[in-house]
Amino acid sequence: MIQDLHSHTYYSYCGKDSPEAVIKNAITCGIELMGISDHYYGVVMNRPGVAYESDEHRVITHNNALKRYFEHIKTLADKYKDYIEVWCGIEITAIDKGFTLLPDCVDVSMFDYCLIENFQYRESVIDDVLAFAKRCGCERVGLAHMDLPAYILSKGLDTDTFLENMKKQNVFWELNVNYDSKHNYREHQYVKDFFENTAFIDAVKKSGIKMSVGFDGHVLEDYDADRVINACHKLEKLSVPMIK
Ligand SMILES: [Zn+2]
Ligand SMILES: [Zn+2]
Repeated sequence: MIQDLHSHTYYSYCGKDSPEAVIKNAITCGIELMGISDHYYGVVMNRPGVAYESDEHRVITHNNALKRYFEHIKTLADKYKDYIEVWCGIEITAIDKGFTLLPDCVDVSMFDYCLIENFQYRESVIDDVLAFAKRCGCERVGLAHMDLPAYILSKGLDTDTFLENMKKQNVFWELNVNYDSKHNYREHQYVKDFFENTAFIDAVKKSGIKMSVGFDGHVLEDYDADRVINACHKLEKLSVPMIK
């Protein structure tokens, strides 16, 4: 199945297009499962210096914004269900820029999936990414645009054990095939490395974890469906289970 589980719309601010335009474009490009995964802090309109009357006020405001976004995407999923499957996701960062983090008291478990990003960096506030995945509570949680073999090595972890623990919690790993103006047309080296790393491919298959492909699009003019389609076909050929 051709699937793209990483995309941004105007909800993310860094994204330009409406969710409906992103979905229509995906249909035209032959994508069969499209995931919208806007940034948490974009959806809740969190900005530096935003003042809330109280924590309770903040929670209500955030929950309302999340609900509005979720219902918007779900309405579109229903509208286009004969042409494409659409999932509603949310991307959550581990880097604190003063307005970016998911507050402990906010519930994101209703989303079809969430993507956790930037937890591999030294500035990350997330120590245990699998514990954080559990806290998110979504049916599926993905590790976005990161070099998983390098992460496992840097933490001194055992590959099979870590992958097994991912599997137990339904945590998947994203191959991010982004190539756009937003990221200065840089490709992710870890994606190329993965397809040549037969030992890691075998470990992934043995563990039973799932993988996703994401273009991480922000502007439709830059969308390159062939990159998504090729990566999906490569995973299929290797018999690596994808998210769907
Ligand atoms: Zn990201
Ligand atoms: Zn993203």
